[in-house]
Amino acid sequence: MAELEGLEFGKSDFVLLDEVTMEQFMENLKLRFEKGRIYTYIGEVVVSVNPYRQMDIYGKDTVDAYRGRELYENPPHLYAVSDAAYKAMKRRAKDTCIVISGESGAGKTEASKYIMQYIAAITNPGQRAEVESVKNVLLKSNCVLEAFGNAKTNRNDNSSRFGKYMDINFNFNGEPTGGHINNYLLEKSRVVQQQDGERNFHSFYQVNFYLSRGFLAENNNPNSFFLKTSNNDRSSHKAVMSALGVIGFSNEEINSIYQILASILLLGNVQFETDGESVQILGLEAIDHIAELTATEADSVIKSLLFRTVATGGGEVIEKGHTEQDACFGRDAFAKALYERLFCWIVNRINSVIEVKDYNPVLHGKNTVIGVLDIYGFEIFENNSFEQFCINYCNEKLQQLFIELILRQEQGEYQREGITWQHIDYFNNQIIVDLVEQPHKGIISILDEACLTVGKVTDTVCLESMDTKLAQHPHYTSRKLSPTDKTMDFQKHFRIRHYAGDVTYSVEGFLDKNKDLLFQDFKRLMYNSADPVLKEMWPDGQLSITEVTKRPLTAATLFKNSIVALVDKLGCKEPYYVRCIKPNEMKSPVLFDDARCQHQVAYLGLMENVMVRRAGFAYRQHYARVLQRYKMTCEYTWPNHLMASDREAVEAIVTQHGFQDDVAYGHTKLFVRTPRSLYTLEQERAALI
Ligand code: ADP
Ligand code: MG
Repeated sequence: MAELEGLEFGKSDFVLLDEVTMEQFMENLKLRFEKGRIYTYIGEVVVSVNPYRQMDIYGKDTVDAYRGRELYENPPHLYAVSDAAYKAMKRRAKDTCIVISGESGAGKTEASKYIMQYIAAITNPGQRAEVESVKNVLLKSNCVLEAFGNAKTNRNDNSSRFGKYMDINFNFNGEPTGGHINNYLLEKSRVVQQQDGERNFHSFYQVNFYLSRGFLAENNNPNSFFLKTSNNDRSSHKAVMSALGVIGFSNEEINSIYQILASILLLGNVQFETDGESVQILGLEAIDHIAELTATEADSVIKSLLFRTVATGGGEVIEKGHTEQDACFGRDAFAKALYERLFCWIVNRINSVIEVKDYNPVLHGKNTVIGVLDIYGFEIFENNSFEQFCINYCNEKLQQLFIELILRQEQGEYQREGITWQHIDYFNNQIIVDLVEQPHKGIISILDEACLTVGKVTDTVCLESMDTKLAQHPHYTSRKLSPTDKTMDFQKHFRIRHYAGDVTYSVEGFLDKNKDLLFQDFKRLMYNSADPVLKEMWPDGQLSITEVTKRPLTAATLFKNSIVALVDKLGCKEPYYVRCIKPNEMKSPVLFDDARCQHQVAYLGLMENVMVRRAGFAYRQHYARVLQRYKMTCEYTWPNHLMASDREAVEAIVTQHGFQDDVAYGHTKLFVRTPRSLYTLEQERAALI
């Protein structure tokens, strides 16, 4: 608990509030933001408010001030939790993770970068070349991932459109030896469509620089219907090229990447028209370019855009011409899939460089991990679709983990220390998690079932099925189930009462997005490319039409599986949390929008967090540490005590200050119930130094 700053900056730990009310919480948060104190603790959780301006708090001096220190010895900072996670990992050989959450624009990605920079700064003091190179690749990977996974949105000019979990591996010495990146649910619909004021992924605006550099100069300028704005990003292009080089992408690979990007843009120029019975391509010149860029035959490109190969019931293979609508759908699905596979391939390629090779635990000691999770926060928009449904489900899962870990941690600590645990009431959101993911009865199952049904199952039919099956669920409703609610439409809407608030979803497009259909013809086309990099991205194109019988898993199920795996991974690590808050919608460094902030505090569950922390003992610390910090405040312990144990010496301090009724003595730690007592101690100490 850092009380070094003085009260004019507010309370540096929300646990120190006089009363835990929303009012006091908000007052403190606002005061600190206005005083430029963007970080505040709840115990070991860091609450961060986006400053929307460059802060002079990340330099080398600050790194030095935090290195190896305890949380309460300095003002709250990301560096303090990073150090705590690092120390736990190094001293106790614990796998740890830092979970960063908050809504779009709240500062998650910036936080994750500062955390990585801190870890890079405090490791490898001997500057060993192999460790430096690992660190370099880890840091540079951010630049590449941002170019391909981020875009300008109305909320954030550099918004991550994917979830990222990065493991950093350490050897027994605490030096980074490698890592692994997992990516989640890239928002690929952005490839073919962006809202007003938004852009496509940054990478597309770099294509021209690459192509004009040389070998594809004649195919220059693929302006595309997929790009609404055409401004180009020259400086970021340079940075990405250099990062790709540092990571170890070969020239051939870099060529392929940019050729794929250009092909996607050119696909945006392909239009169709219906001429009598048959469908034709408008914009054939784009086709030649696409064929050249993807190292395929123009005829094959045309064929896969206009026809679909299907196996009849009798095993006969026929070619079926698309309608104009099918052709457009196919083109868009192809463009999106190309980009998604490119992105995943880049992530895998980076992983192949940073993966820890030849690690022998006998020779090298235990290999430990710090994981950093930077993933989309809760989303409530005007119009909420399948993507918001997935993202909000993910947040329910993470909230579930948060509850479990924080409470489990508390409980575990009390048991270990032989102190009685007091039950705390909190809202357990398992019921909402079940609503979404339960087999047979959950929303994902109902969606999947509708996708598997042969024949014309529409989104509306699927909604009816949910209404029937979920009518009794306390967190599910729809217009049919609450007919008086005029804000919902019979045909379209259902509402989930999430832990963070009510969200009304529109089922329009749910089934298509869940099916995520891509005609096999495109997969085969890409698998047969003469470009080995492109081919590698499409192994499933190998199957012939009669072999493709198994239905691929749906998008929702794939996502669910990846989130379940993520939660399992996080669950066995010691967690640290950063909760990010966006102070206003204007990207303003001075505006604190009370209502918006309060809403975020509510749905991040921060009040509950403070209450859990205070319900038991707000503070606990090893006896030796307590002594070291406070021995000067007591005549029996200064400069050294003569008692039988540190514990007795701490008892002397506590008694001298008169708060013996406010503490419990654990086996190795002192537990203090109310922050006030500790505050007294801190003041006494401050008066003496
Ligand atoms: P998120 O990942 O939560 O969507 P970002 O981390 O991308 O949000 O932050 C959005 C923007 O806010 C950044 O581009 C930057 O301009 C600003 N920002 C966020 N955190 C900080 C910080 N600690 N210091 C200065 N600016 C910040
Ligand atoms: Mg981000």
